[in-house]
Formats: sequence, C-alpha cells, structure tokens
Amino acid sequence: MKAAVLCVGTELLFGQTVNTNATYISHQLQLLGFDVLYHYVVGDNPKRLERLLDVCFEDCDLIITTGGLGPTEDDLTKETIAKYFDDELVYDEESLSRLKKYFVDSNRKMTENNLKQALLPSKSTVFSNSYGTAPGFLLSQNNKYIIALPGPPKEMMKMFDGEVFEYLSTKQKGALFYKVIRTYGIGESALETVLLPLIHGQTDPTIATYAKEGECSIRIASKRKTLDESKAAVDAMIEEVHKVIGREIYSEDDEDYAKVLVDKLISKDLLITCVESCTGGMFASSITDISGASVCFRRGFVTYSDESKIEDLGVDSKLIEKHTAVSEQVARDMAIKGLKKADADICVSVSGIAGPDPWEKFSPGTIYVGVAFNNRKLKVKSSEVDIAGFNDECLESEGVVSFVKNLDTKRHDRNKNRRYAVLAMIDMVYKIIK
Ligand code: AMP
Ligand code: MG
Repeated sequence: MKAAVLCVGTELLFGQTVNTNATYISHQLQLLGFDVLYHYVVGDNPKRLERLLDVCFEDCDLIITTGGLGPTEDDLTKETIAKYFDDELVYDEESLSRLKKYFVDSNRKMTENNLKQALLPSKSTVFSNSYGTAPGFLLSQNNKYIIALPGPPKEMMKMFDGEVFEYLSTKQKGALFYKVIRTYGIGESALETVLLPLIHGQTDPTIATYAKEGECSIRIASKRKTLDESKAAVDAMIEEVHKVIGREIYSEDDEDYAKVLVDKLISKDLLITCVESCTGGMFASSITDISGASVCFRRGFVTYSDESKIEDLGVDSKLIEKHTAVSEQVARDMAIKGLKKADADICVSVSGIAGPDPWEKFSPGTIYVGVAFNNRKLKVKSSEVDIAGFNDECLESEGVVSFVKNLDTKRHDRNKNRRYAVLAMIDMVYKIIK
C-alpha cells in the first residue's frame, strides 16, 4: 500500500517547529511495509490542505495527517477532511465524556471551544488520546484511507503506537525489514559506483545510499511474505556489500562511530586518551557522549596554544620552533607525550587550522592527526598497520608506535573541519585496534 504523510501547521512552515512527526510516522509506516511516497507540510489553510489531499490520493491509498485537531480557530483539519469525504461533524459521545473527565481530573476549567474537540466525522472510527484532549480518527471511502492524528508529538506517537499501528498492520501484506550500514572513508558517488552492480536490476532487497558529513550510510531493505524471509534477504545482501567495501564498514546497526569505537576499546580492555588542539575537546566530548565511556577513557588534554603543548605535556619546543605546531612532527610528539602523561594504551592527537581564515603559510583544513600506542599491549604487527593504511607514516621507538595523517580537507568551514577531524581521529584509532 502506498502512503503519504501530511503535516498541518503554520508553525512548521515558519520553521518554529521541527517536523519530527513526519520522521516518526514514516519510520513506522516503513516497518509496517507501506511505501511512503510523499511528505507534505501545509499551513492552517483548508483550501491548500484540500488540494494536497487530492495530490496525495492520486497515487496513494493512505494519508496520515498530523495537527490541526485542537480547539482553536485555526484547527481546521477535521472540517476539511469531513467535507472532502462528504461527511459531517457530529459530537462523539465517548469523546465528549472523556474530554469532560480530562478537565475534571486535571483540575482545569473547560472552555466552550474545547467542546469542539469531541466533534468528529460521523462515519469515522475514533482513536482516543491518552495524553491530551484531541482524539484522532480514521475515515475511508472507496479504498482510500485517511488517518488524522493530533500535532503534539507525544500524543501522536502514543496514538500511533496503539490503535493506529494495530489497524494498519491488518492492512498490509508482507513484512519489511531493513538495516542501515555505516561507512567511513568513501564518498557517496564512489560508494554508488562500487555498489552499482548490486543496485542494478535489484527490486528486492533495495539498496539506497545516504551521505552524511564525512560518512555514508547504506540502507538495505526487503519486503517479503514473512519477516524471516525479509531478514534472510537483507543478510545475504549485506554479505555481498561486505565483499565490495568491507574495509569501510564500521557498523551494521546504524550506530555512531564513537559508540562503535568505545565498544571496541572496552571489549579489548584498552584505555584511550587524547591531546586536542584545533578541536578544543570535541573528540573527548564525542567519546564521553557514549554511556559507559569511563571504562576506556579517564583523561584527555586540550592544549590550544604552543605554551600549553610545551608546559602541560612536554612537547619538544624545538619541534614547534622548527616546524610550527601544525606539522606532522608536532602532532606525533603530542600523541607520544599524551600517551605517557595519561599512562594510556593509545593516544590520538590533533593539530590544525580549523579556519575559516588561513594562518601563516597554512590554508584552512590543514589538519594533522597523530596516533601513538603502546605496542607491548596492543601487539599490532607492521603488516596490520599496512592493512589499516598507515604504513608510510609509521615509526616505532621503545615499544611506542606512532603514525600521523594530514587530512587536508581544503575546506574553509570551521565547524565542518573540526567535526571532520574528530571523525578521522575516531577512524584512525578504530582501524588500528580493529
Ligand atoms: P495542533 O494539533 O495543530 O494544535 O499542534 C499542536 C502542537 O503540536 C504544535 O504547536 C507543535 O508544537 C506540535 N506539532 C504540530 N505538528 C507537528 C509536527 N509535524 N512535528 C512536530 N511537532 C508538531
Ligand atoms: Mg496547529
């Protein structure tokens, strides 16, 4: 069955409210096996709403609306839908008594306009609202279905998860299953190119790629008769995708890279630390965003100035004089000194020009990331460093292995550069401990 999500509310068009309802409903509809063809947003305007009902019903059998069911003058969704289906609004006795009870229970005075919320299309099936006052409803005619839900996300979700989900699952044949694979280190167009032989001629499972900042996700979805069949089809396709881009995949469960790294560090019983310059603590923040991070992360250092690098960590001042702080040599020394200072197993450092302006001879986006680790603990073979792709820059001294990468993003956007650097830091550590 094909479906559309139509969200009503001028506040959405003004950008005052983020349209989280559409995301939620779409996700649920997909799980139920509906094909969602459209997302529309319209202001509190009956004419335009009516026009969109026409547009959506042209291709879709189901429309889910949110918003405009409240007690105020501008809430006109019910009136518009009733008119569209040649129906009229009548008081729904059950909703009326629920409404009255709601106001008594919450010790609030019910105003006249609140009564309006118990007015519902006479031919509709009513969905009660456990968190608020506006009921939702279902109306259908000639195999066209419309479900109207309240705007406040908490009320909408509660209603959807209960009676609406139950109703919709009776409407659908087949069961959708999908997984989202996350990759790092390959751009979206390159990803599409390598996946093309798999994407082409493929109606089930479907493969879709999405680019995120510095990362790409791949959604693999299947809709077969049973959930088991759909799962098997998705798993088989994931195996195929692995053959093509196994190295770039870091999660098969749509997890953040920081979460994947923290899990890996914990499972390997490794302590990490960081020495940050241009990211100013963003790496430490990404790691500590993850619940349980204290098992693998005890301390990190923000050394923003040259003095701080020298005084707080003991970075060699001659290296800074000779190469400046934005250099392979200093990034490496930061990682080595941080490792010792924190008595950790692995340390990642970063020093660069976040931008937007250049600094001395450096253009923005010149960013060095260094990694140092205690190889008595990690026991990484040089062939494995090769596999991780850091062979050129690798040095070993007194059991400490270190390597450095220049990201050179060529970007002027300060925050993008910083976020990109953090991802690269996560990636370099992950690849080496994996
Ligand atoms: P309404 O049902 O139109 O009275 O909506 C009431 C409130 O629900 C609005 O003021 C918003 O805060 C919220 N809301 C409405 N539509 C959406 C939506 N699509 N996504 C998230 N919140 C919404
Ligand atoms: Mg509204």
